[in-house]
Amino acid sequence: MAPSSRLVKSSSLPRHQRSLVQPLHSPRHKRVAALCPAAPESLLQELVTAAAGDAHHQPRARPASDETLAVHAGEKLGKKGADVGGRGTGTETDSIATPIVSGTTHWFKSSEDLIAFKEGRRHSFEYGRYSNPTVKVLEDKISALERAEATLVTSSGMNAITTTLLALVPPGGHVVTTTDCYSEARAFIREKLSRMGIRSTFIDLDDGMESLRAVLDENDDVILFYADSPTNPMLKCVDIRHVAELCHRKGALVCIDSTMASPINQKPLTLGADHVLHSATKYMAGHHDAIAGCVSGSEAFISRIRAWHHDIEGAISPNAAYMVIRGLKTMALRVEAHNRTALRMARMLERHPKIERVHYPGLESSPWHQVATSQMSGYGGVVSFELKADLHGTMSFVDALEIPFIATSLGGCESLVQQPAVMSFWARSQEEKAKNGIKDNMVRFSFGIEKFEDLMDDILQALNRI
Ligand SMILES: *Cc1c(COP(=O)(O)O)cnc(C)c1O
Repeated sequence: MAPSSRLVKSSSLPRHQRSLVQPLHSPRHKRVAALCPAAPESLLQELVTAAAGDAHHQPRARPASDETLAVHAGEKLGKKGADVGGRGTGTETDSIATPIVSGTTHWFKSSEDLIAFKEGRRHSFEYGRYSNPTVKVLEDKISALERAEATLVTSSGMNAITTTLLALVPPGGHVVTTTDCYSEARAFIREKLSRMGIRSTFIDLDDGMESLRAVLDENDDVILFYADSPTNPMLKCVDIRHVAELCHRKGALVCIDSTMASPINQKPLTLGADHVLHSATKYMAGHHDAIAGCVSGSEAFISRIRAWHHDIEGAISPNAAYMVIRGLKTMALRVEAHNRTALRMARMLERHPKIERVHYPGLESSPWHQVATSQMSGYGGVVSFELKADLHGTMSFVDALEIPFIATSLGGCESLVQQPAVMSFWARSQEEKAKNGIKDNMVRFSFGIEKFEDLMDDILQALNRI
């Protein structure tokens, strides 16, 4: 068993090693729980080294595991007057579950206390629109998972996208994005940013990175390259290392919407991106019951984005933040199940006589397989495929399915299915659909965590109906 998981499973340890598993109020446990997001490896590594040393064998150098970080990072369990980097948060509890701090404002003991806060000698959350103890736990947990210095949690994924773009790109600046980034982000860039004097260029990922290279060579005003990877619904992948190199050479920043991957499958900051953002509504919250977003990066960039967020708003409620914290605890387990089911199903669908084409970066046949494999540890739960059927035949397939709900969104426990030609492009022209690569016979399946065999039987019976 891996050394780090021994730390949290005392019953599986020999008696002489059980003392290594510390109770929740012990200094050792508190150090894992309050794990500093900027250096998650070093603290956990110290614990692993201590454990292995006690057991009289050499520790193996290994990074902090996402499974443990997802459960413990950012939490201030059992700490009286818990602290954030030595500065008290004022939250006192020995509850294992993170408290939902619902107060909108935080009081000061005296004018002297207030002055200490103003002069930066004392930490306070001050006012709910700026920050909140529950939200701070979520931000630190995400920072640990993304290997980021800092994270801003927002009321939705779109709020994270618009705030990031507004904070980073000044009037007269130039954003380069892709023709298949999230449709609402694309519309915001094209229609709203242009009204603020911000130029935009949309590149086609199918052209490789030649078009990005050309835009960067021909323009000196590119501030930001903004892209989803993988994309939705075509599951194309951006070579993050490569674009970071191209962009940084010209002084442009790279921001990746990593929603479709989740922090378990992909960590864009470790590949060279400057910012990573998510719709936390999807894999992070994971239960189709909370809307949230986040953006992570260096302390300097996140402070800049946070300053804009204070003004244009989009603070998440502490209740929604708690739902995401709860979701994150099981994210590693869920994503593993999503990955496994989607890959097996993509392989099965690829061989089925009624299927024309399957889009999934985990398939060897995918043009994005090599890039995906070089930067992802799993390929996610969404598979898109085209049936050997027309618009109505495809609708019959969707309607014959019994397990998934017909719904937009993805990344939750329940499987969801949708036909983009109906869900997003109904009554739109064939040209518009073609421009977005949407075919009438395309189905986007977000596999949930139901049993693989049940989902497979359901898909096979529905395919028999067409
Ligand atoms: C859902 C989604 C968003 C928008 O997030 P919301 O939480 O719905 O605001 C952005 N990007 C991607 C890739 C998404 O799937």
